[in-house]
Amino acid sequence: MNDLREELYRLPGGEKFNLCIQCGTCSASCPSVSAMRYSPRQVIALVRAGMVQEVLHSNAVWMCASCYMCTVRCPRDIQPTELMHTLQLLAARLGLIADRSPAPAFYRAFRASVKAHGRAHEFGIMFNFLLGRPGKALRMLPVAISLFRRGRLSLRVPRTRGASELATILSALRQGGESETPAALTVAQGGVSA
Ligand code: SF4
Ligand code: SF4
Repeated sequence: MNDLREELYRLPGGEKFNLCIQCGTCSASCPSVSAMRYSPRQVIALVRAGMVQEVLHSNAVWMCASCYMCTVRCPRDIQPTELMHTLQLLAARLGLIADRSPAPAFYRAFRASVKAHGRAHEFGIMFNFLLGRPGKALRMLPVAISLFRRGRLSLRVPRTRGASELATILSALRQGGESETPAALTVAQGGVSA
């Protein structure tokens, strides 16, 4: 696991983790902190202590809303948001989806929509996401009806003019023109010791 911590330190911006003064500004700014097992400040502290597994088994990274408030407000120019994103990838690759978080399934539905249409199609995303989740779908039905009535949810599939160019870019990325895999994930794929 210390190998993994060292790899996280080698990520762009990772060299700054040791500059964290544990001031808590990131946690105080985070809109999701009340739902997180570990606050952004604690995530930084755990990573520094080499307790990456602890973080990966928690729901903390999946609760991140990617709002970048922590990154913007950090007095030491640390980037907790990027760390959260890398830890999400890492947890997904290792099959550690904590607390049965629905976040990875939602991200997959979002990505599939962008890949297919060049932009997000809200109805399609929610349909894919709720497929196999009848209880949740039923609970969200009144909200969906209300959004339809207000014209905020449309069945019409939008397409950007650059959809084919985007597909070409994504295909080039997948074929290794540019690595999508941070160094830390390469270590994880080779096996992570607890
Ligand atoms: S705001 Fe920056 S320095 Fe303060 S605890 Fe968070 S990461 Fe550390
Ligand atoms: S980017 Fe994530 S961790 Fe940072 S403040 Fe926003 S929700 Fe919290």
